[in-house]
Amino acid sequence: MTKRSPDFATMVLILHPWATRQEIDHLTQLIEEKALEWALHPGEVRNQIHVFGNLSQETEASWRTQPGVQQVYGLAKPYKLANKTHRKSNTRIPIGSQQLGSEDLVVIGGPCALESEEQGTTAALMLRDIGLEIMRASAFKPRTSPYSFQGLGVDGLHILSRIRQRTGMLVETEVMDVRDVEIAAELVDVVRIGARNMQNFDLLKEMARVQTPVILKRGASNTIREFLLATEYILQGNPNVILCERGIRSFETAYRNTLDVGAIAVLKQETHLPVIADPSHAAGNKTLVPALSLAAVAAGADGLIVEVHPNPAVALSDGDQSLYPHQFMNLMDDLRKVGAAVGRRVLRHRPARSLSR
Ligand code: PEP
Ligand code: MN
Repeated sequence: MTKRSPDFATMVLILHPWATRQEIDHLTQLIEEKALEWALHPGEVRNQIHVFGNLSQETEASWRTQPGVQQVYGLAKPYKLANKTHRKSNTRIPIGSQQLGSEDLVVIGGPCALESEEQGTTAALMLRDIGLEIMRASAFKPRTSPYSFQGLGVDGLHILSRIRQRTGMLVETEVMDVRDVEIAAELVDVVRIGARNMQNFDLLKEMARVQTPVILKRGASNTIREFLLATEYILQGNPNVILCERGIRSFETAYRNTLDVGAIAVLKQETHLPVIADPSHAAGNKTLVPALSLAAVAAGADGLIVEVHPNPAVALSDGDQSLYPHQFMNLMDDLRKVGAAVGRRVLRHRPARSLSR
C-alpha cells in the first residue's frame, strides 16, 4: 500500500464488480512480489488498484489474465529516459554560441558530403561568412548504389578536424560503423546517425559510450514510438541526443520523402530532447527546401539541418536538393521572420540583400 499521488501510477488494474477479497489480496501480493507499490481506490461499482514503479510489458500482460481483473491500463511510457513526464525542463545542448532546445533556432548547413579538403574549406568559409557556426559534411556516405561516391571515410574525419581548426567552424558528420564512433567523437563536434541506421542497435549502444552530441535521424519507415525507443539506447549513457525528422516513405512521388510535420509536434510534446528537421532529404529538390524549412519551424522544430553547397551543379551527392549559397541566405532571412512569429531567436546572419545582384 502507498500514499503516492495517482498521477505517478504506472498501471491501473480495473477490477471486476464481483472481484472477491481473496482475489484482491492475491493481486496485491503479486504486486508486492515485484517490489512495486500499490493503492486500492474503492469505487461505487468497481475497485481499482493503482500500481507504482517500473514494470515490464510482460508483467502488464500477465496481470491481464488474473482472476478478478477486468481491464489493465499501462500508463508508463515505454521510452523512460526520453519522455517528458515528470521533467521540469527541456534538454539543452550547446552548439557554438547557441543552445539547441532553448528559444534559439539552431541552423546547421553544409554540403551533403565532404568531397575534398578544398571543397570542405570553401563551404566552411562560405557558411562562416553568412554567419553560421556549424557545418554538416558527411565523411561516410550511405549510398543506395555501391558505384556511387562513398565518402572520404576516416581521412574525411581528419580533414573535418583540420577545417574546424583553420576556420573556427564547428563540424557535424555521419557515422555508419561502430568502429568509427570513437574517432569521430574525438574529431568532430556533432555525430549523426542516419535514417538507415536508426535501428542499428550496436551503433546506438556505441554512441551511448561517448558524450558527443548525436543527431539521430528517424528511419524512413519507422514510427515515432520506434524512433523514441531507439533514442533510449543512446540515452543509457549519452544524454546529448538530438532527434531529426527527415521525411518518411509514403505513396507520394512528388518529393523524395514526406516531411512528417506532425511528428515534430508529437515529439515536442512527448520528449524533453531537442527536435530538428532535415528539409533537404525530405524534399529531394532544392525548390521545396525553403517551404519545408519554414513549416518545420512553425511546427516547433528547435533547429534545421540543411544541405547547401558552394556549387550544387558539381556536387558528388544530392546536388538536386542542395541550395546555392544565395538561396540559403534568402532562407535564413525568411527563417528570421517565421522564427520571430513563433518565439525563436535566429543567429545574426548576413542578409541576402547584401549580395550584389
Ligand atoms: C544525410 O543527412 O546525409 C543523409 C544521408 O540523410 P538520411 O540519413 O536522412 O537519408
Ligand atoms: Mn544528402
